[in-house]
Amino acid sequence: MEEKRYRAISDCYREKFGGKVAKIALDGGFTCPTRDGSLGTGGCIFCSGRGSGDFASSRLLSITEQIHQGKTQTAKKWTPVGYIAYFQAFTNTYAPVSILRAKYEEALACDGILGLSIATRPDCLSEEILDLLEEINEKTSLWVELGLQSAKEETAAFIRRGYSTAVFDESVRALAKRNISVVAHLILGLPKETENDLLDTIHHINRLPLEGVKLQLLHILKDTDLAALWEAGQVPVLSEEEYLLQLCAAISHLREDITIHRLTGDGPRQLLLAPLWSLNKKQVRNHLAKKLKEENIYQGMFYSP
Ligand code: SF4
Repeated sequence: MEEKRYRAISDCYREKFGGKVAKIALDGGFTCPTRDGSLGTGGCIFCSGRGSGDFASSRLLSITEQIHQGKTQTAKKWTPVGYIAYFQAFTNTYAPVSILRAKYEEALACDGILGLSIATRPDCLSEEILDLLEEINEKTSLWVELGLQSAKEETAAFIRRGYSTAVFDESVRALAKRNISVVAHLILGLPKETENDLLDTIHHINRLPLEGVKLQLLHILKDTDLAALWEAGQVPVLSEEEYLLQLCAAISHLREDITIHRLTGDGPRQLLLAPLWSLNKKQVRNHLAKKLKEENIYQGMFYSP
């Protein structure tokens, strides 16, 4: 058996549910404060018109119908032991509590749903919403995914994140205090960021009570403000070799109990302008496994509290 070099989400699913689990991406019909005019209208510079929910079903379908569609798609390829309903598109706590409760409960009532994963912004978690999430967490497996992207404030301003790193930190602590598993989203290859900036972000999250992290490659998607900058030659993208180097650095400095929920990019083929090498996810995963083995890299080897 191949030696484990990092803690993957599949390890967590196996421990919790006894086998492989599929995540069904959903569009709950929400919007986002940096899109609806509350904080802005353009959204984050990398975000597509589908609010980072490019793999979710149509919002015109009910949650039950979307889950049914997701299960049918999965069944064509493999048979999981169950499913996580993943509220992915836009900001999935950006609505009155009664609406949120109805959507989450509709998902949980579907056959085979083992838990929920809710992607949201740290500035959209009122006490009332935290109470609801705590209640949901008591009856099922729940992950709340929060976008950090980078701990560096200049980068956050450039990508128009719309909240400070301190707001992210406070929300992670508030969720963890309620025993809710929190996953941070990070982007590798952000404009003007060096490997040292990435490592500063890794050291930053190591100090937080996080259950997991998603390491995502910066993608240039059609019709985004980032695409305009890239087309004008103002924003470079990482080569596969550069990405692998950054991933290895991130993994080796990451606290060893933090579960890695994602390691490769996931840009939708019809929207992705660059980098096109990232479409071959299997190849990227194989190259990463080879590099980790050859260079004897494992999670947390350079971590110090
Ligand atoms: S917070 Fe999420 S949904 Fe909103 S603009 Fe940014 S990436 Fe898109």
